[in-house]
Amino acid sequence: MSLSGWGNNLSTFSNVYNPENNDEIINIILKDKISGFITRGLGRSYGDSSLADNIISLKNYKKLFNFDKNKGIIECSSNYSLGELIKIIIEKGWFFNVTPGSKFVTVGGAVASDVHGKNHHLDGSFSDYVVSLKIITGEGKLYNCSRNENQQLFQATCGGMGLTGIIVSAKIQLLKLKSKFIDTQIIKTKNLKETIVKFKELNNNKYIIAWIDTTAKNEAKGRSIIFIGNHLDDGDLKFEEKKTISIPLKFPDFILNKYTIKLFSKIYYHFHKHKKKFKQNLNNFFYPLDNINNWNNLYGKNGFIQIQILIEEKDPKIIINKILDFFQEREQHSFLGSIKEFGKGNDNYLSFPNKGYTLTLDLKMTKKLNEVYQEFEDLLKKHKTKIHLTKDSFMSEQYFKKTYSNYSKFKKIKNKYDPLNLINSFQSHRIGI
Ligand SMILES: Cc1cc2nc3c(=O)[nH]c(=O)nc-3n(C[C@H](O)[C@H](O)[C@H](O)COP(=O)(O)OP(=O)(O)OC[C@H]3O[C@@H](n4cnc5c(N)ncnc54)[C@H](O)[C@@H]3O)c2cc1C
Repeated sequence: MSLSGWGNNLSTFSNVYNPENNDEIINIILKDKISGFITRGLGRSYGDSSLADNIISLKNYKKLFNFDKNKGIIECSSNYSLGELIKIIIEKGWFFNVTPGSKFVTVGGAVASDVHGKNHHLDGSFSDYVVSLKIITGEGKLYNCSRNENQQLFQATCGGMGLTGIIVSAKIQLLKLKSKFIDTQIIKTKNLKETIVKFKELNNNKYIIAWIDTTAKNEAKGRSIIFIGNHLDDGDLKFEEKKTISIPLKFPDFILNKYTIKLFSKIYYHFHKHKKKFKQNLNNFFYPLDNINNWNNLYGKNGFIQIQILIEEKDPKIIINKILDFFQEREQHSFLGSIKEFGKGNDNYLSFPNKGYTLTLDLKMTKKLNEVYQEFEDLLKKHKTKIHLTKDSFMSEQYFKKTYSNYSKFKKIKNKYDPLNLINSFQSHRIGI
């Protein structure tokens, strides 16, 4: 079967196994003795983290084990998507404590990438609300793990990019919800300096994210539209699925180019009104891109890369400016650039978040981008930075090992639970795990 990551920048042909229960998974590992595999959820990671010659997909393994509607604790097989769970939990007055910008991700993918949302500055990441996991490791054994049981396996698995084993189910603590609506406010800033000042002023709000105009120059460089959100409490929990539109085919390459990206960015910036307040439903606030199925086809046949860079320096503006200059000078523009603020990270070995700011860029795949990537990494190396593994397509082994400081602890646990190193992805080969 032909597969790629969400960035469509690499296509592979893989054997896909579809076990329906734990015994079938164990048989695949112990009896079929497949030589190397990775688990794949819905393939929303951007690069090659869920790509390998052999793939285990749990799409036929779907079970809702328990939903305690009073305590808001749900236990389900890992292949449930957040979108499927939303249909069950919202009307009962619950939501996720942390959600990424797409609901088309599985619980297993959210745990393995320890995803964050627009509220990391206050609430941490997805795995902080995972009560326990069941996982089948590379030895073909089923383990329970949590902060109290097989703790190291838990810390290596949350954020561990599927490399310790197959997460078969998860028990998750949900967030009490009193309305399906989010009170939203828009703040427009004139440049990067003002954007960072506003983040500092506004970070007592539950959700905050900025779209950044990566094409603006000079005194407008880094101008942004900041979206702030807080839950309402009007008691309206009636959830309705929204109609989506589709982009079924890859767009011709010429449509998205430096001129159209500059034009879209300008229109988008001027379209939004400063200080506008409105209420919108959860779907539109958290998952705006999900309204267009296959929006990744916009980038054409060679796809794109997304890079999310964590900046752990006191003044994030210096490196953000350098990154904006770097891509502007090389005429590689991003339309979907964003900034988020992060709070303190957790104890997982490979989780991405830590105190600081992140800049995310979506860049159309071009020959030039390929050529300049190493130079870009050299720039990042001069600062305290790190790249989110679930958004990575090109990171070098050297940069990974320099920036993921708990890599050796992770590797020790991986070796213990996957002694034959059966579990690996194209990404794990590239970055030397
Ligand atoms: C529009 C959009 C917005 C996004 N916004 C955010 C965001 O705000 N924050 C953020 O952090 N991420 C974000 N992401 C990235 C996305 O949340 C992660 O890549 C997530 O892991 C994808 O889940 P998936 O089910 O598609 O997993 P896949 O892409 O299939 O796999 C991702 C990783 O998880 C592992 N994995 C998947 N299932 C299992 C399992 N059952 N057991 C063990 N390992 C498993 C895979 O091996 C792989 O390493 C976004 C992606 C998109 C497309």
